[in-house]
Amino acid sequence: MNETGQLHGSCLCGGVAYRAQKPVGHASHCYCTMCQKQHGAAAGSYANVAAAGYVVERGADLITEYASSDHGRRGFCKICGSTLFWRSTQAPERIAITLGTLEPEYDGPVQRELHTDTKPAWLPLR
Ligand SMILES: [Zn+2]
Ligand SMILES: [Zn+2]
Repeated sequence: MNETGQLHGSCLCGGVAYRAQKPVGHASHCYCTMCQKQHGAAAGSYANVAAAGYVVERGADLITEYASSDHGRRGFCKICGSTLFWRSTQAPERIAITLGTLEPEYDGPVQRELHTDTKPAWLPLR
């Protein structure tokens, strides 16, 4: 994996575009029930990067944050609903950006699976 350079991402409607400075601290699939609800999917998939290197290049006014817990904030595009990031007010130096919004496709490893106790049984195996 390329440890330097930038990751680039955008939402489904294209209204929001962002970049994030590598390196990725770790990437994860989170199967918690909140991620399942928000993503409408088996997991939320994230790359954890430094918040200081996260820059919204376009559409900052479209990003809405939902407070899913005392400290958790989930950013999404208010036009198309794309999930963009998860962050914690308890760790403001980090932000977890969604792998599915990255362009080109994320090519790094995913090191962690979180909340596997609620990993859905319908998730296909391979
Ligand atoms: Zn959008
Ligand atoms: Zn989760």
